[in-house]
Amino acid sequence: MLKIDKNILNTLNNFIGSAKNIVITTHHNPDGDAIGSVLGLYHALKTKNITSAMITPNGFPNFLAWMPEANSIVDYSKNKKKAEELLANADLIFCLDFNGYRRVEGMAEVLEKSTAKHILIDHHPDPESTFDIQVSFTEVSSTAELVYEVIEQLYGPDNINYNCAVCLYTGIMTDTGSFSYACSHQQTFAIAGKLVEKGVNVEEVQGLVYNNFTENRMRLLGFSLAERMKVFPEYKAAYIWLYRNDLKRFKHQLGDTEGFVNYPLSIKGINFSALFTENDNHIKVSLRSRGNFAVNQFSKLYYQGGGHKNAAGGKAFMSMDETIKQFEELLKKHSNELNA
Ligand code: 5GP
Ligand code: MN
Repeated sequence: MLKIDKNILNTLNNFIGSAKNIVITTHHNPDGDAIGSVLGLYHALKTKNITSAMITPNGFPNFLAWMPEANSIVDYSKNKKKAEELLANADLIFCLDFNGYRRVEGMAEVLEKSTAKHILIDHHPDPESTFDIQVSFTEVSSTAELVYEVIEQLYGPDNINYNCAVCLYTGIMTDTGSFSYACSHQQTFAIAGKLVEKGVNVEEVQGLVYNNFTENRMRLLGFSLAERMKVFPEYKAAYIWLYRNDLKRFKHQLGDTEGFVNYPLSIKGINFSALFTENDNHIKVSLRSRGNFAVNQFSKLYYQGGGHKNAAGGKAFMSMDETIKQFEELLKKHSNELNA
């Protein structure tokens, strides 16, 4: 069992006990771990008869919408007034799966300004020290795994019902690429096992999340790999770039390009992959690596971003063509590390 400091657990217990309005939130562009963690904690509190509100800075992909109570999540970008009211009235806010306020983008100011106690539960390196309580462990697979630990250590394993279990399982599954990376500790599998014991159907969840592409999304993936992927064997690297028009052609919906950045890593000898997606006012950058090349450092240096050693993101504020030109120069510059 992960050792969460007893004092932290006691303080957290007291905060929860005396809170009247609890909010649970997560980062911008929430992924499976973000949504799974938010909903998992929500369901765990609910079984203790503690109500909470859930807020995300923007929408989440449709392949996560099946999760129990996902439709109760308030989308700040669509419902600012309600979200701001909830944040202003909150006396306890759980911040899940991010390590600094900038990660909630447009919601940062209201979130930070709220007089509520801010509780961080997260697995990213180098968290900001602006939270009242920090439950931060980088060695866990996912925030969902950490939320499981918090709930179990606060309330015992019996407090985890099916709804909570299936949300936490989804978080762990998505952040580990279905248990293929970031899960070298046996504890991840032990927890997944306990969640299965609560009734999670592994095959069903896998299907709900991964086998539900629209035809357009599948064809966008095919197009990306056939027409928009450049491979550099000499740098063990590859990138995919997608213009706004490409996205439009395939009727892009939120979340459609999720996971695309991983595909180049399936090419023999490729250890570093990037995905550049053209947005309204910036290029969204997704980075993945295998082994020692730290993409969070790379993102911090060139894309005002961060993340994990092998999975990071950021933004480029130039045109697509300038972004990929610069990236190719960066590959040359980092050739030694990429070939180490
Ligand atoms: P993705 O490429 O899937 O958007 O993000 C991969 C990882 O990088 C996630 O852990 C995510 O939290 C982190 N990440 C993505 N974008 C940003 C960003 O703009 N800033 C920081 N600090 N982390 C990011
Ligand atoms: Mn995560």
